[in-house]
Amino acid sequence: MNIVLFGPPGVGKGTQGERLASATGASHLAMGDILRAAVRDETEAGLKARAYMEAGKLVPDEVVVAMIEDKIAGDALAGFLLDGFPRNVPQAEALEAMLARHDMAIERIIFMDAPEEALIERLSGRLICRACGFGFHRHYSPPREAGRCDRCGGELYQREDDREDVIANRLRVYKEQTQPLLAYYQDKPGFRRIDASGEMDAVYAALVKAVEE
Ligand code: AMP
Repeated sequence: MNIVLFGPPGVGKGTQGERLASATGASHLAMGDILRAAVRDETEAGLKARAYMEAGKLVPDEVVVAMIEDKIAGDALAGFLLDGFPRNVPQAEALEAMLARHDMAIERIIFMDAPEEALIERLSGRLICRACGFGFHRHYSPPREAGRCDRCGGELYQREDDREDVIANRLRVYKEQTQPLLAYYQDKPGFRRIDASGEMDAVYAALVKAVEE
């Protein structure tokens, strides 16, 4: 099954998407992770993307569309879960055209939502493992040993764009550019909306239900 997960920054797309992908065998295509890897490796796309990401702005459509098409068309995927793409209506239109070209379809479009206070709290307390990318939260899911990943022992860090000033910008960009996707998607077959304001296991249960029903 091919799935699109969308919603505001900090709603849990990454955490829940990773869990769903490993349970179903689908590939988790997280646009933010793909971009951060490109920035780290100083690829041509990464060099173009860096300044936008640091400011909490969207990277230009042509850059992200080409990167995602590479992933979708490049490997024979046993289903994929798109997380963080599309993030505006032109990207959604580009996705449709790309899927038609590769004879693929999206079976579920899942909108995850939570109140803004919860998003700010989740983002500002978030810690990520530099080695394996696993996410923790200072208060809600702290690591056993401060600063160290439970899974691989890697160093935990706070993402540059999880600083409060950049968070405010990302939420503004979300409202202006990503929220209009709701009107674009909500009448399409396969659209589901879930409440992602609760605890991690409750949100995951709602996600599985939205996929299965
Ligand atoms: P994320 O890890 O999903 O929070 O994404 C981190 C940053 O990557 C965003 O703030 C944007 O700068 C950039 N980004 C991620 N996905 C997209 C996208 N679909 N279009 C443009 N920029 C994106």
